[in-house]
Amino acid sequence: RSLPIDSEEENYIRQVSGACFSKVKPTPVSNPQLVAASLPALSLIDIDPKQVERADFAEFFSGNKLLPGSETAAHCYCGHQFGYFSGQLGDGAAMYLGEIVNKSGTRWEIQLKGSGLTPFSRSADGRKVLRSTIREFLCSEAIHHLGIPTTRAGSCVTSDSRVVRDIFYDGHPIQERCSIVLRIAPTFLRFGSFEIFKATDSETGRTGPSVGRNDILKQMLDYTVQTFYPKIWQAHSADKETAYVEFFKELTRRTARLVADWQSVGWCHGVLNTDNMSIVGVTIDYGPFGFMDKYDPDFICNASDDGGRYTYIKQPQICKWNIKKFAEAIQGVVPLAKTVPETKIFDEEYSDYYTKKMRKKFGLINTIEEQDGDLVGSFLDTLHKTGADFTNCFRCLSRLPLPGSPDFEERLQEVTEYLLSQCSTVEELKKEYRPRMNPRQFQMIMMLMESNPQLAPALGRGFAAFSQEIERLEKSKELENVTDEDKKKENQAMWTAWLKTYVERLKKEADKVTDLTAANQRRKEVMNMTNPRFILRNYIAQNAIDAAEKGDFSEVRRVLEILQTPYSEDLDFGSLSQATAETTPPAATED
Ligand code: AMP
Ligand code: MG
Ligand code: MG
Repeated sequence: RSLPIDSEEENYIRQVSGACFSKVKPTPVSNPQLVAASLPALSLIDIDPKQVERADFAEFFSGNKLLPGSETAAHCYCGHQFGYFSGQLGDGAAMYLGEIVNKSGTRWEIQLKGSGLTPFSRSADGRKVLRSTIREFLCSEAIHHLGIPTTRAGSCVTSDSRVVRDIFYDGHPIQERCSIVLRIAPTFLRFGSFEIFKATDSETGRTGPSVGRNDILKQMLDYTVQTFYPKIWQAHSADKETAYVEFFKELTRRTARLVADWQSVGWCHGVLNTDNMSIVGVTIDYGPFGFMDKYDPDFICNASDDGGRYTYIKQPQICKWNIKKFAEAIQGVVPLAKTVPETKIFDEEYSDYYTKKMRKKFGLINTIEEQDGDLVGSFLDTLHKTGADFTNCFRCLSRLPLPGSPDFEERLQEVTEYLLSQCSTVEELKKEYRPRMNPRQFQMIMMLMESNPQLAPALGRGFAAFSQEIERLEKSKELENVTDEDKKKENQAMWTAWLKTYVERLKKEADKVTDLTAANQRRKEVMNMTNPRFILRNYIAQNAIDAAEKGDFSEVRRVLEILQTPYSEDLDFGSLSQATAETTPPAATED
C-alpha cells in the first residue's frame, strides 16, 4: 500500500498522528477451534474446502499463525458516534492481514476481528466473544445472499482463551470464549477513515489526530479513487478535483441504494456512526443489528440507542447526514462548495431505487401508476396497525395471481386468511410498548420535569428517550380496553380494504398482458426474488449461539446453509420449520 504506515511496532494504546495505519501483531489464543466456515466467501480468496479441513486452518484464522507475506496492521479512523464527533477510534479489535489477488484477478482485503489489543483498543481488550462473532459471521453472509452489498465473513473460530463481558449469572461475571471472525471486503476504509483530518470540533472540543495533514488526505483520496473507483480515476485523470467530486457523487448514490436495500428487507444496522459507513458503499460492522419481525417504523435493535437515533425509519436520513459529515472530512482538499450541493443526489437516488424495488416486491411490473407510492405506504401502515410480520406478509403476496386468472378468488381468500394469521393479539401489541428506558432513569427525569420543565433541553438524549417513552405509554393505554375480538374485526376490515385497493391496481397490470399464465409466472418469479422467505431472525441466531456456547456448532452451520438460499420456495428448513412454519406462508399449491 502506498499509504503512510506508523513506524511503531508495539500494540500499546496511543493517539496516532500523521498515519493511517499502525503495525500490530495478533495476540495468540489458546486452542483455536473452527466453529464454521463459509465456503462461498472463502472461495473469493481461493481457499477451497480441503484447506478448510486442514488441522491448522483455525491456527491461521485465529491469528496464531500468519499467512505467508502477511503484514498485519490496525487502521486509524475517527467517527461521529450518535451524532457527536468522538476523535480517534480506529481498529480497536480488528486487524488488517493483507490483500489477496485471486485467480480471476480480483483483489480482496482480509481482516481478523477479535485478534487482540491494538493502539486503538482504548479501554477495551481487542477481543470479541462467541455470541458477537457468530452474529457477525451469520449476518454478513445472510445479507450477501439477500443480494445486498456487504463485507463477507469467511470463518468463525473460537478458543479456550477467556474474557469477562457484561453478562452476569447469580451476580457473578461470566467468562466468555475469545472468538475471531475472518472478514473479507474490497476495503475496510470508512467515512471515519477520512475524519482523522478533522479540525477541533466545536461541540465536543475533540480534534482529529492528523488535523492539517492535507498531504496525507490527498494521498488517501488518490488511493481510494484510483483503487476502488478506477473508471472515475481514468475518466478524470487530468483533473483530480473533478475525480474527487465524481467519487463523492458515486459514494452518495451507492450509500443511498444500500440503505434502500436494507429498508426493503426490514433490516436495521443499529449503529450507523460515520465509522461504520463503508467508503465503497457496502454494509460494514455488524453489532446489534436486527431484522424486524412485526413491522414497526420505530424499531430499534440497539439497546444502548436510548434516543432512538438509529430506528428503522430514520436510517435513510442518518445515512445522508453521514454523507454530509464525509464531505466535511475531505474539505481540506475538496471544497464544501463542490460536494455539499451534490448531496441532493442522495434523495433522488434513494427514491428511484426504493420505488423500483418496491414495485418488484408488489409485483407491479407492467404498469406505473402515480398512486403506487400510496399503495406501499398503506401496506406498511396496515402491517403496523395490525402488528403483522414484515417478511412473511410481503412474501405471501406472490401467491395472488392477476385478476381474471381461474383460481383468483380462491387465492385471494387464502392470502386474506394468511395475512390475518400474521396479525398480533392485543397482548402481543402491548408487549411492543413495554418500557425501553431504565425505570430509575425514567422516574428521575419525571421528577426533574415536574419540578422544573425548563430543564428539558439540558437533558439532551435522556429527554428524547423520555418523550418517546411517554408516547409509548399512551399507545399502550389506548389498547387497555380493546378485546381480541374487537381487534380481529378491525384487522379484517383493514386488510380487506388494503387488498381491495391492491386488486384494483392489479387489474391495471392484467389489462396490459396478453398471456395471463406467462404473466402470472413472471410475476411470481419477480416477487419471490425480492421478498425473502428466510431471514436471520434474532431467535434463529440466538438458538445457534446457545448451542455453540455448549460446544455444539452444528446449528451455526445449518443456519449458514439455509441463509444461502433465502428466496428459495422449496427450501427445507429442517427443524427450524416449526418456528418459521407458523410465520412462513404455506408452500404453493398451484402449478
Ligand atoms: P463499533 O462497535 O463498530 O461501533 O466500534 C466502535 C469503536 O470501538 C471502534 O473503534 C472499535 O474498534 C472499538 N471496539 C469495539 N469493540 C472493541 C473491543 N472489544 N476492544 C477494543 N476496541 C473495540
Ligand atoms: Mg465499527
Ligand atoms: Mg461493537
